[in-house]
Amino acid sequence: HAKQSGRNRLAEFVPEMTAATQRRAALERELRRAIGAGQLAVHYQPQFDCASEALVGVEALLRWRHPEHGPISPAEFIPIAEESGLIVQLGAWVLQRACAEVAGWERAGGPALTLAVNMSARQLREPGFIEDVMRALAGSGLPPGRLELELTESLLMEDVEGAVAFMQAVRATGVRLAIDDFGTGYSSLAYLQTFPINQLKVDRSFVQLLPERGETIIHAVLALARGFGLTVVAEGVEEPAQLEWLRRAGCDVVQGYLLGKPMAPEDFAERFLTVRTP
Ligand code: C2E
Ligand code: MG
Ligand code: MG
Ligand code: MG
Repeated sequence: HAKQSGRNRLAEFVPEMTAATQRRAALERELRRAIGAGQLAVHYQPQFDCASEALVGVEALLRWRHPEHGPISPAEFIPIAEESGLIVQLGAWVLQRACAEVAGWERAGGPALTLAVNMSARQLREPGFIEDVMRALAGSGLPPGRLELELTESLLMEDVEGAVAFMQAVRATGVRLAIDDFGTGYSSLAYLQTFPINQLKVDRSFVQLLPERGETIIHAVLALARGFGLTVVAEGVEEPAQLEWLRRAGCDVVQGYLLGKPMAPEDFAERFLTVRTP
């Protein structure tokens, strides 16, 4: 009898696994065609100087609008792109598109913004990656110092020596480096000394504890950053009290729904770049 019910449970479970596996396989196939089909877009989330509240930069976030399923979260399709290797092609497209859009805004009279782009491990291991970055910069006219590549701790820890060599090569071009989701990975603090980075992005999970909790960790990150000459971005700022706390603590840059959600380029341009005449 036990065997019987075990088999029944298995029978109920298998079709679900199959459905998930099938969706994944279908998404991978469709993602392969999504670039050519015009289903991908880069959205931009504004970043502000914490003290002056001036717009200083944007983070590029990839969006996929599936013809039947509608918008699909990067949390679902980025892992598929990473495992299938498609991220190399997608990442190159994001870089090229985002550099062109941000440089275009400046040519149209907008402010000089920094552009942060998220990187996957697979992209960095691709031979010719730095050449792709340089091509995106040269093609758009964006100065190298205005591009910042966001790397995660887990990506860096996969191969520390390789990561350091890669980072040195990137920095030699003038492009900047940031550690994303800082504090959530498994990197050792000792590596902050070794990694030639410019910026730490404090993970949203800490920022969202503010102002009642989370202060100790964020104070510590700010002190570390100051010691190593790095700037700090707080991500996921949703409440005015969090912004106020970060300002008093001396955080450099803030990003979050309170100040602006990721937006389509035309919405970003309309909200932040149009000169309003009285
Ligand atoms: P991330 O790089 O840490 O990006 C921040 C994520 O937090 C974004 O989610 C953003 O929409 C969201 N966010 C920003 N402010 C707030 C806030 O105030 N509250 C809350 N709850 N969320 C906020 P998104 O766009 O869904 O992206 C998720 C992740 O997907 C990114 O995390 C990044 O790791 C990855 N990703 C997105 N675009 C790319 C890409 O072009 N290449 C690669 N390799 N990864 C990407
Ligand atoms: Mg990021
Ligand atoms: Mg992040
Ligand atoms: Mg992330």
